[in-house]
Amino acid sequence: MWHWDQGRLEYFQFDALRQIASYVVKNDFKNGDRSILSHETGLMFAPMNYTPWRNYSRVLKLMLLVSEENNVAKATPVAFLLSNAGTVTCDEYLHFLLCAFTEPSPALANWKPNANFRYPLLFAIKYLLAKTATSDIPVASLDEIIGAYVDSKYIGGEGQEQFISAINSSKDYSSIGRAIPSELRRQAKESLKVISQISYLHIHSDKIIVSLNPADAYEIFDDLVPISGPRSTDRNAEIRRLASLFKGGSTLELDYPNTIIGAVIESGFREGNKIKKTHITIERNSGLRNQFFSANSTAICDICHLNTKKTYHWTERVLDIHHLLPLCSGTRVEGKNTTLNDLVPVCPNCHRAVHRYYDTWLDRNNRKDFISGSEAKSVYQEVKTQFSGLII
Ligand SMILES: [Zn+2]
Ligand SMILES: [Zn+2]
Repeated sequence: MWHWDQGRLEYFQFDALRQIASYVVKNDFKNGDRSILSHETGLMFAPMNYTPWRNYSRVLKLMLLVSEENNVAKATPVAFLLSNAGTVTCDEYLHFLLCAFTEPSPALANWKPNANFRYPLLFAIKYLLAKTATSDIPVASLDEIIGAYVDSKYIGGEGQEQFISAINSSKDYSSIGRAIPSELRRQAKESLKVISQISYLHIHSDKIIVSLNPADAYEIFDDLVPISGPRSTDRNAEIRRLASLFKGGSTLELDYPNTIIGAVIESGFREGNKIKKTHITIERNSGLRNQFFSANSTAICDICHLNTKKTYHWTERVLDIHHLLPLCSGTRVEGKNTTLNDLVPVCPNCHRAVHRYYDTWLDRNNRKDFISGSEAKSVYQEVKTQFSGLII
């Protein structure tokens, strides 16, 4: 089983990691001043009686942002890329990390350069993708994924057929997962929550929901390849080696042409044959819609306040869900593991109008995407104040 960190999920938030990256490219995190660190990142790095390095170096090393060199924390090429807003999306970064993360990990004390390496996060994502490609239920609980990893003994680089056969076995992976010693199980779950920031994943009640068309799931599966050796005996040198392999996501084509909502494509997000990496998120998936509407049983559009159940009384639900965070920003991960907070119910008209507004706003600001989740949220608020009311 794989180790991870100790329950500081807010520090693994993509927006937070970008703030930390901007700090480490200019300052030595190991010996730097705590007040500058807190000021520049907006994060506390508690408790105050320990240095941030003592408690947070693992976060930075797991996310390949720093390595130690001559007793200072040196920013990696990954940190430089992340510090430059808009250079890499959360999806590109996390897909790279899950191909690089191994058990054992050079970020952790259990490092061994010639172990039999396994890729637990790569396993997790491939398990989810294979399930999405082959079954009607693109959902897996965290325990199910952990149990399947333990039981299959897969490395993570296996092909689709092997994953499908693991999925189709009649084993009760959830109970195998639940039987893992609690501390390891907690760490594994938290690492899965971190990768759930990928745009097509949502986590709710300890379940990961995948919002992809099967064809896109197959395609992404085939693009994911474990990053291999030769490994360095020195943990920090190994972190530097891995970090140097990140080329800003250029090796991975992260388009989801079969999955994206039609209205969004019509609203100008298409560039030639390729969909621009913008705010487009995967909002069509019925599993996600069901999860959202069972937690919030509203029929009222967040923009125009139309009560769709009364207006269109012959149909159960016409509302779309709109994702408030940009693709570059990642889904919010929280200890309580609900990320449905980043979704709002909107009627199809308003939904299309929101995306048109984003388009115009980004063009006016010469951007391809929002630079943070809070920027995207404030532009959404702008749409709400600009709405003129229902004029008939
Ligand atoms: Zn509306
Ligand atoms: Zn939307």
